[in-house]
Amino acid sequence: MSIPTTDAVILNQIEYSNTSLIVTLFTEKFGLLSGLAKGARRQKSPFLGSFDRLNHNEITFYRHTRSTLHTISESKIKNSFLGLRESQDRMYAAHYIADIVRGMTREEEPHPELFNLLVNTLRELEQADDVPRVLFQFEIKFLSEVGFRPELESCVICWQKPQGQRIYFCANEGGIACELCAAQMPAQVTLTSKGALASLIALQKRRLSEGRTVRLSPLVISDIKRLIRPYVVAKMEREPKTMKFV
Ligand SMILES: [Zn+2]
Repeated sequence: MSIPTTDAVILNQIEYSNTSLIVTLFTEKFGLLSGLAKGARRQKSPFLGSFDRLNHNEITFYRHTRSTLHTISESKIKNSFLGLRESQDRMYAAHYIADIVRGMTREEEPHPELFNLLVNTLRELEQADDVPRVLFQFEIKFLSEVGFRPELESCVICWQKPQGQRIYFCANEGGIACELCAAQMPAQVTLTSKGALASLIALQKRRLSEGRTVRLSPLVISDIKRLIRPYVVAKMEREPKTMKFV
């Protein structure tokens, strides 16, 4: 048994007993992790408030070799992202992000780039007045990071650049489809727009803090939503509970 320390974001907590919590964390060094916080629900616990969802903490835990539920021994809050808690839109977005990370990563598979993306997104979201943009940028970067980067420039069936006026997206194939190919499988595609694709490509390429320069019209926002949300569901193999709020 080792006693490592790592930075972690609290993705979820459930009551384990009258006094304890089971906490789901995304950690910098170990990826997704479950920890038991004994006594965390007691009034005088040093853990009190420490495991609120979305806190960024430094945690120390006893790492068990025979169980994937480890025992948290210390937890220090580094950032509780107070700005998130000021707005319902930001809060829903942050919970959706936590659901995606929890649903699409495997336990104890280190992925520090993903940890940085998560923390930087929460920081960006904390002051965002363009919540949909931050969310789309997280989704496209996250999907790429976990190996599901959608193809946004060539048709995934014939691999040509789409020529016609209409461009479609096929969530099952993971990318866009030209008019001719889309006509062969109408039930599997959704109409999208050049504006939505150009904006998504720009968001994918830019850093989070530079994404602010990409302004999205309400029409483009709804086009991107119609493209990316079914794709998230296809890859996660279920709909995240919070998706209907974002
Ligand atoms: Zn095609």
